[in-house]
Amino acid sequence: MIIQTRQNSELSSLFFYGLCCVLLVMVGACTPQQASTHSVSGSTMGTYYRVTLADKVTDSAALKLEIETALTKINRSMSTYLPDSEISQFNRSAAATPSAISAEFAHVLAQALQLAELTSGAFDITVNPLVQAWGFGSDGVQTTVPSTAQINAILTHTGYRLLSLQGQQLAKKVPQLTVDLSAIAKGFAIDQIGDLLSQRGYENWLVDIGGELKARGNKGDENWQVAIEQPRDQGGIHHVLDLQDSAIATSGDYRNYVELGGQRYSHIIDPVTGYPVTHQLASATVLHDSAMMADALATALLVMGQDLAFDFAQEQGLSVYLIVRDANAENFKVVSTGEFTRLTH
Ligand code: AMP
Ligand code: MG
Repeated sequence: MIIQTRQNSELSSLFFYGLCCVLLVMVGACTPQQASTHSVSGSTMGTYYRVTLADKVTDSAALKLEIETALTKINRSMSTYLPDSEISQFNRSAAATPSAISAEFAHVLAQALQLAELTSGAFDITVNPLVQAWGFGSDGVQTTVPSTAQINAILTHTGYRLLSLQGQQLAKKVPQLTVDLSAIAKGFAIDQIGDLLSQRGYENWLVDIGGELKARGNKGDENWQVAIEQPRDQGGIHHVLDLQDSAIATSGDYRNYVELGGQRYSHIIDPVTGYPVTHQLASATVLHDSAMMADALATALLVMGQDLAFDFAQEQGLSVYLIVRDANAENFKVVSTGEFTRLTH
């Protein structure tokens, strides 16, 4: 825990959105002694977005319009909540013959499939029917634990290998297969907004979508600071760090869960077993150049559990911070990679 006096004084002004997916919060709303910043915010992807700029903004309304146009474009392609989005159309179709998809959608799918291979299927964008069966999807909360027979039946039409992507041509090998980019699309959107800001000449900014963040430059004379949340229902700050020209994402099992038959189940599903993960890894945080990769990797690590996740992170040279619950779920210990220490000290 490295919360210092100045940061403590800022705790009262930190903004915090009590939504299920908020795992990281930015510390330090603008106080008189700090650099002046300008923010643009709104909603997207079932959560909030906030772009904070420490550069002079001449036309805030025009910038907001550009940001929202970019976000709308991503949603029209990748949101399963919009019936006419590319992804929803693909999900509804039998699509045994390949159909043409946009370059953006193909790019995110290609990255997701590559990560599925790399993580031996821990990350899997076809997992949605299982997410629904466990009561985390748009179908709403379930009141009973799905039966083994039900899970096994669903497993016959999930699995990233049942998806076929050739360039911008997408097909499915079984008609029931669906794609859900919840674990990666926010990161992609952050990268897109970041690119937009850079193209418009902004050099000092922080983009936050639903608690996943990417920063460039500084906040006046200071670094951008972010906090990794304490992995408990009631939240709180676990660890504060400077975010220097990097993206950061956290996946956790503590905010989004259901209780079925007196047992608590996480919204992160192991795609191989079809069951929510049950290990002691409470949250996984990844620092990465790409917000899309940080987002997807954080989810994948949470599926793996502490030991596999740490070995994988070391092998891949990733910058990772894992918060692990002790056996009685009272206390936490931290396991981080050398790369995380190198980048944050
Ligand atoms: P995140 O908050 O980025 O970790 O994404 C979590 C969301 O991704 C869940 O709410 C599910 O919709 C979906 N999901 C659950 N398990 C997996 C998995 N193993 N691979 C990919 N997406 C998953
Ligand atoms: Mg994710």
